[in-house]
Amino acid sequence: MSYARLIEATGRVNDFLNAGSILSWDARTMMPKAGAETRAKQLATLAVAARNLLCSDEMKRALEGAEAEVAGKLESSAEARIVAQVREAISYHERIPTELLRRKTELGAAAHEVWAEARENADFSIFAPALTTMVDINREMAQAIGFEDHPYDALMYRFEPGTTTAGLSTLFARLRDGMIPLVRAIADAEKPRSDFLFRDYPVDAQMEFALQMAKRIGYDTDRGRLDTTVHPFEVSFTRNDVRITTRVATDYMPMSLFGALHEAGHAIYEQGINPAYTRTPLATDLISLYAVGGVSFGAHESQSRLWENHVGRSRAFWANHMGDIKAAYPGLLDDVTDEEFYRAVNRSEPSFIRVEADELTYDFHIMLRAELEAKMVDGSLEVAELPDAWNTAMKDYLGVDVPNDAQGVLQDVHWSSGQIGTFCNYTIGNIMAAQLFETATSENPDILTALDGANYTPLRGWLTDNVAQHGRRFTRDELLENATGRALDPEPYIAHLTRKFTDIYALS
Ligand code: ZN
Repeated sequence: MSYARLIEATGRVNDFLNAGSILSWDARTMMPKAGAETRAKQLATLAVAARNLLCSDEMKRALEGAEAEVAGKLESSAEARIVAQVREAISYHERIPTELLRRKTELGAAAHEVWAEARENADFSIFAPALTTMVDINREMAQAIGFEDHPYDALMYRFEPGTTTAGLSTLFARLRDGMIPLVRAIADAEKPRSDFLFRDYPVDAQMEFALQMAKRIGYDTDRGRLDTTVHPFEVSFTRNDVRITTRVATDYMPMSLFGALHEAGHAIYEQGINPAYTRTPLATDLISLYAVGGVSFGAHESQSRLWENHVGRSRAFWANHMGDIKAAYPGLLDDVTDEEFYRAVNRSEPSFIRVEADELTYDFHIMLRAELEAKMVDGSLEVAELPDAWNTAMKDYLGVDVPNDAQGVLQDVHWSSGQIGTFCNYTIGNIMAAQLFETATSENPDILTALDGANYTPLRGWLTDNVAQHGRRFTRDELLENATGRALDPEPYIAHLTRKFTDIYALS
């Protein structure tokens, strides 16, 4: 009975969080700007209500009874995992004083304005005082949450449980060793032709083609929809209502297409979660308080990157779909072969803007941010020293000179809202994507044959069986062990990038 009560009560937490997700989807797609102030309050109210219900006496009573009821179950059973996760989530949230959360929320609202002004003026000193306070608040949060080695570990826990600063540092060093020689070699190599990507592509045709390709790889639009936003995103309310957005530039067509494929990858993950997990903690992130079924932010990113990069940016994909894209844009691509198109959408060029970075250079933007965040959090880097540290790392990693603070240290919104510790999930996602794709295709050559024939069902089936269906039942590392036989391993990713870019750029 207690277990049933626990499921009922956590279902209501999921309802609050989903209501918040719907308000947030609306805010980002439909809402007039003037609604922003009230909407922020509504979202905060729902998040607090969800947290308070999670930490309520009612929940704790149900949890205690449920723990006794599932005591005989296997530790890896869905029931035992649910009970353990609720216990951990309550403990996590109770460690963070509400007073600290209130200060963080209030500063977040104010700091956003200050950051926007600083960015407009390309002047970091305007933002520095707010960021200093934000870093202090995050350091207090880390102390409250607790950690073994490094305070940054406590902050990453919310987004990527199990990730440590020491582990990231080893991972990053290996990536740098594998990738810097490629970046340097490509800088001197002849660039593939890409002029045709910048032609005048009609907005309606772009949205139609983006949706056509998202559906083609398996995004189910009977349980979803595609809209246009400034920043593309995916949001799921249940596995039966998973929405995506993309952005459109009339003079740069790949943005809408790969935005849609990326978000469709996230959506396919959520649409594939075991229906029995709906409204339970196995489809609710009770730590980050987000009604999502993916097991970590990095695991989620692995699915979007896999479909976007390993499928959508593959040679086979364009050998198969060049006819489709030519039909979608009559007359615009008549002078382009599938091989030229494939090379153009894989063009690599170091830039100082993260969101515009290509597959090969993206991770350097992430390493730089994660490393600087960790140093600010442990006090070894003062906020005042941040712009210099940023520009130096950009030069070291990508060989580029940052022209000003707006295009350097001030480019991301994350710090203004107080979010520190999220960036690593992008790189972990890239690594996981390559590891999963390598296992799927090497153990099942039929999957590769099917991809060569534009049949995406076998790959999607493997990903559903090995990743999506489990929701949050297994940890990220358990999921990887079960699917690939080993923990997070950067080698398949480095091998993939080396193979692909050596070929495209004819490097020896
Ligand atoms: Zn993503």
